[in-house]
Amino acid sequence: MKEIVSVSLENDMDLILAHKRVMKVCELTGFSLIIQTSIATAISEIARCAIEHGEGASLKLGIDGTATRKYLVARIEDSIDFSLKCQEALNYAKRLVGNIEVIKTPKGIQIMMKHLLNFSGTFTPGKIDSYADYFKNEPAISPYDELRRKNLLLQEFADKIRDSEDDYRTLTDSLPLMMFTLNNRGQLTYSNKWIEQFLGIPPKEITAAAWQNIVHPDDYATFNRAVTAALQKATPLKGQYRLKEKGSGNFVWHMITALPLKNEKDAQVKWMGFMVDIDAHRLAEKTLKDNMDLKEVQEKLFENQQELQTKIVELNRSNYELEQFAHLATHDLQEPLRKLFFYADALKTKYHDKFDASGLNMLKNMTNAVSRMKELITDLLNYSQLHQQKLDFNPVDLNVTVQDILKDFEITIQEKRALFDIGPLPLVNGHALRLRQLFSNLISNALKYSKKEVVPHIQISVSQTDEKFVFLVKDNGIGFEPQYKDRIFGLFERLHTRDQFPGTGIGLSICKRIVELHHGHISATAVPGEYSAFEIELPMAAVVN
Ligand code: ADP
Repeated sequence: MKEIVSVSLENDMDLILAHKRVMKVCELTGFSLIIQTSIATAISEIARCAIEHGEGASLKLGIDGTATRKYLVARIEDSIDFSLKCQEALNYAKRLVGNIEVIKTPKGIQIMMKHLLNFSGTFTPGKIDSYADYFKNEPAISPYDELRRKNLLLQEFADKIRDSEDDYRTLTDSLPLMMFTLNNRGQLTYSNKWIEQFLGIPPKEITAAAWQNIVHPDDYATFNRAVTAALQKATPLKGQYRLKEKGSGNFVWHMITALPLKNEKDAQVKWMGFMVDIDAHRLAEKTLKDNMDLKEVQEKLFENQQELQTKIVELNRSNYELEQFAHLATHDLQEPLRKLFFYADALKTKYHDKFDASGLNMLKNMTNAVSRMKELITDLLNYSQLHQQKLDFNPVDLNVTVQDILKDFEITIQEKRALFDIGPLPLVNGHALRLRQLFSNLISNALKYSKKEVVPHIQISVSQTDEKFVFLVKDNGIGFEPQYKDRIFGLFERLHTRDQFPGTGIGLSICKRIVELHHGHISATAVPGEYSAFEIELPMAAVVN
């Protein structure tokens, strides 16, 4: 049925109103005055009975039917069945209009009167709406009627508000974010279902104090400051904080936003806000950042490697050039040096008488300088040669090697009365000459850096594991500060002045190079004033059994 107007049936004033409206609807829909009166009387009779025996009945007037056959319908509804008490009224009404039906529904009762309309096809929906409009603008018939109409209007508004609130709640509940409103004191006035679902706290228990247990302890101070400032200044609040999830007990990152809302007089009245789960976003952001950092580090590393590679190439080239230069220089210098030596010697022997004391002294200084230069050049040449050649390995009996060396140092050993303690040494696969140079340099140093008043005691021993031989050359000499144990293997590195001990600072560099050419390792330990010990590891692979 398309409704035109309705009347609630509560008291006698409603009865008058119902009668009046039925008459008007009948008039508008084109019934004659006689039929108008019959219908209005019949309906009024039932309405009177409904007011008396029913519980808040209502009368609805409208039009129903097909496109070509339409009826005027008057329907009185109530939640309780009052019809039994109204048989008389119903019979009377039936006599007046005929077509009256009593329908029992689960919601109560409906008493329906239908009357065929003349010119059924002309009752378009637009026309029916215009009848309804008539009643909307119908002048009030009494102060009571006026009041009723206002009440109805209010009711209508209330329904609309409730509907819109329902819509709002449905909307906020269907959005996957926690929404809330606060009053100006920061108290929760509304929260959607997600808030309770996430926090596990009923909205009325979410007081200002409760937030301390909700927000992560590390974030709470910042959160509290931001909320207090926002409430005081009525400025928007926006921040990222971790909130405790009821189910897992985990803290989940959320973006919390709260905006101050103003009324039409521009006064700030409440707050509306939402909390969005940004945990995945934060994680993605962090991973991305970590990745980016990692990428940056990798790029840097790659750059450094490239740089290192270039430097190594440069270094190798310059080392090579340097070695070439050292080799050529030392080689070419030897001849003029020999001549210098020869002439200095000749001057000294042949023209000795021609020099006075100072001239002779100068001559002596010159010979010393030339000797030193020769020594330096020989050592340098030795050292540079080590870089030039690839060594051919042969079995070398180190017992023989060491004995030969001791013969070389015979005079010094006698002078110093040096004692040697030499264990049986193995046969190794190596370069005989270079191995001799190695042990010779070490023994020479052990004799040279001995203590003046103490008899030098030099031990040469070997121990072995499955993979390597470990040789030890140890003296009881002046030793050195352990901090210099690596530096002494550097080219020209010396811990003593030439006045104290002669030398070029090349000997141990040569030792290191020879050991490396034998795929081994050399290291030193010392205690100042007590001893120095040099340990040489040679891998078994380079060794003949
Ligand atoms: P040098 O020609 O000066 O002996 P080396 O390269 O052989 O050059 O030795 C480097 C420095 O190491 C020496 O100047 C010396 O100070 C120290 N050194 C080497 N061997 C010993 C040792 N057995 N005892 C104490 N110091 C030593």
